[in-house]
Amino acid sequence: MNLANYVGGRWIEGGGAGTALIDPVLGTELARASTQGIDFAAALGFARGTGGPALRTMNFAERAAMLGKIVEALQANRDAYGEIALANSGNTKGDAAIDIDGAIGTLRYYARAAQPLGTAKTLRDGGLIRMGRDEGFQALHVGVPLRGVAIHINAFNFPAWGLWEKIAVAFLAGVPVLAKPATATCWLAQRMVEDVVKAGVVPAGAISIVCGGAGDLLNHVRPQDAIAFTGSAATAASIKNHRRVIEAGTRVNIEADSLNACLLGPDAAPGSAEFDLLVAEVAREMTVKAGQKCTAIRRVLAPAQVAAQLADAIGARLAGVKTGNPRNETVRMGPLVNKAQQKAAVDGIAALKREARVAYEGKDAPIDADPAKGAFVAPTLLAANDPSTGRAIHDVEVFGPVATVMAYRDAEDAFALARRGQGSLVASVFSGDPAFLTTAALELADSHGRVLALDAATAKSSTGHGIVMPMCKHGGPGRAGGGDELGGLGALWFYHQRSALQGPAERLKAIAEASATTV
Ligand code: NAP
Repeated sequence: MNLANYVGGRWIEGGGAGTALIDPVLGTELARASTQGIDFAAALGFARGTGGPALRTMNFAERAAMLGKIVEALQANRDAYGEIALANSGNTKGDAAIDIDGAIGTLRYYARAAQPLGTAKTLRDGGLIRMGRDEGFQALHVGVPLRGVAIHINAFNFPAWGLWEKIAVAFLAGVPVLAKPATATCWLAQRMVEDVVKAGVVPAGAISIVCGGAGDLLNHVRPQDAIAFTGSAATAASIKNHRRVIEAGTRVNIEADSLNACLLGPDAAPGSAEFDLLVAEVAREMTVKAGQKCTAIRRVLAPAQVAAQLADAIGARLAGVKTGNPRNETVRMGPLVNKAQQKAAVDGIAALKREARVAYEGKDAPIDADPAKGAFVAPTLLAANDPSTGRAIHDVEVFGPVATVMAYRDAEDAFALARRGQGSLVASVFSGDPAFLTTAALELADSHGRVLALDAATAKSSTGHGIVMPMCKHGGPGRAGGGDELGGLGALWFYHQRSALQGPAERLKAIAEASATTV
């Protein structure tokens, strides 16, 4: 099966042999993807010239209704998506749900959240601003949709959620999308787009998808385009520094790698509710999607006097996780996405082992699977007694079921260790001490895009360390890319030009009344 590209309002297969998409359990070929021969300049031109104007004629309420119809189109095909996620990503049912239902849930959230925007087509930022003595001459900040294309370049680990969390916002903003999912797992994204196109719920040119390499895509970006990238820091750097991207001044949002930390408070002794909660959360974060989540916990900071006990408790949890072929109902953790990722994880673990001891390493053969054919990596927990002297443990993001427990001396030491990640997507704190929760949340906020502060009372309602909620900002500073996605309606601004209008107050008042506010 060759996965076609949808550009210029047509399905077009790329040329040549393409890249094989592989079942990471069985090692068999599922499909091929190629963008060879695709005219990226024409694809972007069609989106700008046909999709953009169609979306801009719609108001926020109409665009929100369109998101609702996309939800219906996707839900009608939900079963097929689970099958593809199993075959192409080795997802368990739970893993697939996070990706697929997370995607649908995010679209649904934006369809609802947009209600207060009503029939407006423009945004306003605040109210009228007086600049001098004359009240008749004032200023107003407005936001109008970009007249370019939203170019969405996504990572392999969330082919569904990564696609729709970005599209939901761009569509609501009135900007057409060209999506480039990661080649290794692009089948699910391609199938979802196919279903939405078939359902006829988006205007011509609003959506395009390319399955395979990016080719010369970036050579054709323009000032009114916006690039939203998710993937490794290395690829992010090449996109940000791309000659044409710099020349055109194209907006770029980067969601890159991250060494997310979780922190056990000094009060949380073994036997406390917070200690047990953290143990369960770390084990879950390590094994959901086999640790292939950008938000997964990589570093576990624990008071020195309990670090060894904590590592033992997490190890005991991990020992109960059955790894193997997700087609077997008893299996809780599947493989990594392919052999290349398996090798990268094995190399990463070797680097961590040079600085930390092994606290737990799964030894069981994968269930119902041939380890030689599959891309399995056993859950591996490391422990470092003097983590301040380590480098790799703070630098190497092993994108698999791997974490390192790090002993800290006191609160200041714990916060300093968390900052060694050089900016991450999320940190979590587990403590029964309200004062410590407050201090830690604020101490960690400068270097983390999101901080989850948990005590026993709120644990039941918690959405978890690794789950990205559309009403909260997603993106971390520094190494995590400095990105800012989601976070409710504020996300619309990335796809709008903010402009200060200066003029007769009465005119500005009329514009303000016809505009919507995102706060
Ligand atoms: P990747 O290798 O950087 O690839 C990401 C995307 O960039 C893919 O679609 C890839 O296409 C494309 N790409 C590669 N080179 C390109 C170029 N020169 N120009 C334009 N596009 C290019 O990352 P990955 O291996 O898919 O994903 C894993 C990484 O993503 C991890 O480091 C993880 O932490 C990070 N991640 C971050 C977040 C977040 O929200 N912060 C979420 C998920 C994952 P091909 O597949 O065709 O090469």
